Amino acid sequence: MDAAIRKLEVSAFTVPTESPESDGTHTWNSTTMVLVELQAGGAAGLGYSYTHRAAAVLIADLLPEVLVGADVTAIPALRRRMLERMRNLGQTGVVSAAVSAIDAALCDLKARLLGIPLVDLFGAVRESVPVYGSGGFTSFSSDQLAQQLRGWVEEGISRVKMKIGRSPDEDAGRVGAAREAIGPEAELFVDANGAYDRKQAVAKAQAFEEYNVTWFEEPVDSLDLGGLRLVRDRSPAAMEITTGEYGWDVTYFRDLLAADAIDVLQADATRCGGFTGFLDAATLCEARKLPLSSHTAPALHLPAACAARPLRHIEWFADHVRIERMFFDGFPEPRRGAVRPDRSRPGLGLELKREKTQNATWYGDYEHHDTPDHLAFRGSRPGRRGGRPRAGRRTPPPGAGRGPLRRRQPGALRHGRLELPPDADRRGRPARQRRRGSNHRNLPTV
Ligand SMILES: [Mg+2]
Repeated sequence: MDAAIRKLEVSAFTVPTESPESDGTHTWNSTTMVLVELQAGGAAGLGYSYTHRAAAVLIADLLPEVLVGADVTAIPALRRRMLERMRNLGQTGVVSAAVSAIDAALCDLKARLLGIPLVDLFGAVRESVPVYGSGGFTSFSSDQLAQQLRGWVEEGISRVKMKIGRSPDEDAGRVGAAREAIGPEAELFVDANGAYDRKQAVAKAQAFEEYNVTWFEEPVDSLDLGGLRLVRDRSPAAMEITTGEYGWDVTYFRDLLAADAIDVLQADATRCGGFTGFLDAATLCEARKLPLSSHTAPALHLPAACAARPLRHIEWFADHVRIERMFFDGFPEPRRGAVRPDRSRPGLGLELKREKTQNATWYGDYEHHDTPDHLAFRGSRPGRRGGRPRAGRRTPPPGAGRGPLRRRQPGALRHGRLELPPDADRRGRPARQRRRGSNHRNLPTV
């Protein structure tokens, strides 16, 4: 099996929301997906993260030299090398989002090379996974809130989540209206996104008991482990305290669980290191006898959710459901409140709808020069995927192309695509170069 990565493409798409949205501590009117596509052995894999386009810049600037030409099956080694390459930028935030998107693409590509669904690469513990409807933004009118939550319940999704915390005095009224809209049977979750202080959160937990709220997410700042523990200790017995969506690595998850601060851990594979990090979180949960729930990006989580032993459900987050339906063929639709992988599809089971990406704004516009840094950033204005090169690119510095690193990286990155000659060896050297023992004259130029 030819497992050498031949091509890396990274792009970022910003999709406007249908209307301005907000939760307890944040407002937004668009969502950005950073998409990574890898090719090896005639197969193509993809991964993504919902993050800032800065992650696409990091990937295109720093990671082709790690990934292109490398063995796609050596995912742990590649993960270590990626983190080493970005060490001085920190290992959380945008860096971890970048690693997450690539980890997902590596897993997808590995499964596709093997010709199996990703869920079978991981090893399934369940055939389908329950979902819970998630939205209920604080920007919604009462009618919008009731309509969205009731809609999910009518589709057979028996758990729904709404945002609270933007106007604390109005919370109880909104939660009461939501309960009325969904009826007495469906489970009602609330998410404050860290909007409350400790005592306020305890008071809210007690007030929400009247509406049979069974899930209170991020009642206080998710870094306030003592505050989470306090709220957990003083909440009604039937109300679970949850957080974890800003966990970038196992260190945070370990500390959160060690503090006995929550009842359910949430982990986001698009932030915490891809499938590798998500399954690490599952192992931690199993060791602490706590359930795990996935956060956002529903289609991406499905294979890992089938494999994660302590997993309870997948968040069916309205914004990302809309985007993933828009961009991917093979998006899994829930039936009777659960989703199941389509085992007739290899890998993640998702295929990018190219016609959609052609019309989307594309931020990746990078070109490989033989500079000591390998890559030169070319322009900062948003462009169109596959568009013509733009004027104003940075001229390679004098002497470029004569540095010793050139021979290590003979690929050419154009418009966000780094391609190796088809006969390149595992280190990326083309065959004719190896034969002549030369590193310079036969290199592609841009
Ligand atoms: Mg949340």
